[in-house]
Amino acid sequence: MVVYQKQIYVSSSKRKELIDITSYVEQAVEESGIERGICHVFVPHATAAIIANEHESGLMNDILKALEDLVPPNKPWRHNLIDNNADAHILASIIGPSRSFPVEGGRLVRGMWQNIFVVELDGPRTTRKVIITVMGE
Ligand code: ZN
Repeated sequence: MVVYQKQIYVSSSKRKELIDITSYVEQAVEESGIERGICHVFVPHATAAIIANEHESGLMNDILKALEDLVPPNKPWRHNLIDNNADAHILASIIGPSRSFPVEGGRLVRGMWQNIFVVELDGPRTTRKVIITVMGE
């Protein structure tokens, strides 16, 4: 089995934002030379997450609005007493820090409407690290 790993860095310009990293992930799979296996995409951050969904600007806004409705930032969260970002931690916990994708025929497998996004939940940030691990043969 071969393991190929790389890190990429993205920045955000808003508090909540979806950052499309599909091309970086596909490039990592290509670089790996792996024909068949798994591609794991992970953010080592407590206030960011990874999702796979459609890159359509209306929908991207809808997702961010729904997240805000689900966990309103201005509730009396206890964590806000020490660090004003409880909503970001809660949403990151619900969504999760990683997603895995099959690799077949040397290519990342995803649905036509499944782009891969970093979900920024407490931006803007200059540096959000993403670790991409491709494993297989
Ligand atoms: Zn915090």
